[in-house]
Amino acid sequence: MNSVSQVPSPAFAALTPDVEVTVIGSGFSGLGMAIKLKEAGMHAFVILEKAAQPGGTWRENTYPGCACDVPSHMYSFSYERNPDWSRAYSSQLEIFEYLKACVEKYALAPHLRYGTEVHEAIYDDANRFWTVRSTDGNAFTTRVIVSAMGALHRPHMPDLPGLAQFKGTAFHSAEWNHGFDLAGKRVAVIGTGASAIQFIPEIAVKLDRLVLFQRTPAWVLPRMDRPIGKFERSVYRHVPGAIGLSRNIVYWKQEIRGLAFVNPKLMRFAEKFARKHLANQIADQRLRDKLTPSYTIGCKRILMSNNYYPALCRANVDVVTDAIAQVKEHSIVTCAGDEYPVDAIIYGTGFRVTDLPGPVRFVGSEGVELHHAWRDAPEAYLGLTTAGFPNLFMLLGPNTGLGHNSVVFMAEQQISYVMKCLRILRERKLASIEVRPEVQARFNHVIQARLQDTVWASGCKSWYQNANGKNVTLWPGFTFQYWYRTRKVRLGDYRFEQGSDARG
Ligand code: NAP
Repeated sequence: MNSVSQVPSPAFAALTPDVEVTVIGSGFSGLGMAIKLKEAGMHAFVILEKAAQPGGTWRENTYPGCACDVPSHMYSFSYERNPDWSRAYSSQLEIFEYLKACVEKYALAPHLRYGTEVHEAIYDDANRFWTVRSTDGNAFTTRVIVSAMGALHRPHMPDLPGLAQFKGTAFHSAEWNHGFDLAGKRVAVIGTGASAIQFIPEIAVKLDRLVLFQRTPAWVLPRMDRPIGKFERSVYRHVPGAIGLSRNIVYWKQEIRGLAFVNPKLMRFAEKFARKHLANQIADQRLRDKLTPSYTIGCKRILMSNNYYPALCRANVDVVTDAIAQVKEHSIVTCAGDEYPVDAIIYGTGFRVTDLPGPVRFVGSEGVELHHAWRDAPEAYLGLTTAGFPNLFMLLGPNTGLGHNSVVFMAEQQISYVMKCLRILRERKLASIEVRPEVQARFNHVIQARLQDTVWASGCKSWYQNANGKNVTLWPGFTFQYWYRTRKVRLGDYRFEQGSDARG
């Protein structure tokens, strides 16, 4: 594999950087960025990837039953439609294969630097470019950084009393131990989020006993999945406009769902539907009570499954709602004093989403660290750029996540916006672009005010909020509003600097 050191790496005092654009991460957004750079003829870019393969979250998460809960035709690039999705909702493997096929089709391999984990990026005010260092000590300079690191790849591990004593096997859903033979084992699962509800039905059938530790029940709706047959696939392949029509139908159906997130009163229809789903699948009133949430549906991510509730009805499955008091060498003890002997613990406890900017140390203009600038809460303009950090773009950054539609759509709007900024830099021979702090502040004021009226502010605690309860992850509106907002770069929103090199 190539490494950063193979990028020409002259002295940092050089006036022109080694590469024009550095993309960090090769998940959906990083690859999408690379495709558009190539399409625009901007070939002087690298994609740094910590792992040995592309794919981001779809490479990392390999747990049994892993699949997407956004319909396949929408969870793909708008310009790279796939007539061959085998199901209405794709499996992890199919999405992973799709992303690898994109690398192949768009000839991205020469730009990819696998095994390169970025450690820090420091902005050089004099030369108006960044120095990027990887954990192996290599370094190079780049005009622009596009951070496409995603949010769902750093496992959140619960801090349970006595965990260090546990003598059995323990792993997180995003680091699935495929060498662990589940057959006949007693396993504790902690967490009832989107990941857990997908793997529980798959593993419950193999285990001697599954003890599910539930802190908060999730609202679950039926999953309208179905196989896509040969005939339908051939229509998508051969009939002009068919796949586009399918995508549009999915897009608008998803957008209509968005109405209820911003008008929480409408959520009562979804709640009724979810209660019916629960009642249809769980006959035992005690279990039904345990699984009935007490918060408004949509406040936490709505889950979709047809086989989760039936799995919980199995004779070998216990749903435990008492908090965990202690983990012992071979068991878990609850606050109620019940002890559950287990051979393994599987954490379905989610990801460290709000602790941004994550492991990379970004040092911006005048030596300000992004960790410091974001000490109260991550904040960016359009989720993309942040004051004090020129030439740094973040894909799927603060407040651009979604509860109702495909984030690939959001990433595409952002990529298109970044491309417009890069064209401005190139055509006007400018060396840097930086959002004005007052523009960023105004934008965030509006975003936070809008969030107050949404279902996410209806009183639950979710991973959408940081430790102070501020929602730093979600876009409070429709995705077409985000498209509208990002379709043009307003020059007045930014400060531009001439270069001290030939650009100047
Ligand atoms: P998650 O939604 O954050 O769920 C984590 C679960 O672990 C919650 O039930 C949480 O309980 C519980 N938990 C966390 N810490 C705990 C502790 N110390 N003690 C007891 N329970 C604890 O994580 P996830 O299921 O991995 O999903 C994360 C996100 O990934 C999803 O929301 C979704 O965006 C994405 N995802 C998507 C798909 C898809 O189909 N597209 C599939 C999987 C994941 P509380 O609710 O009480 O905090």
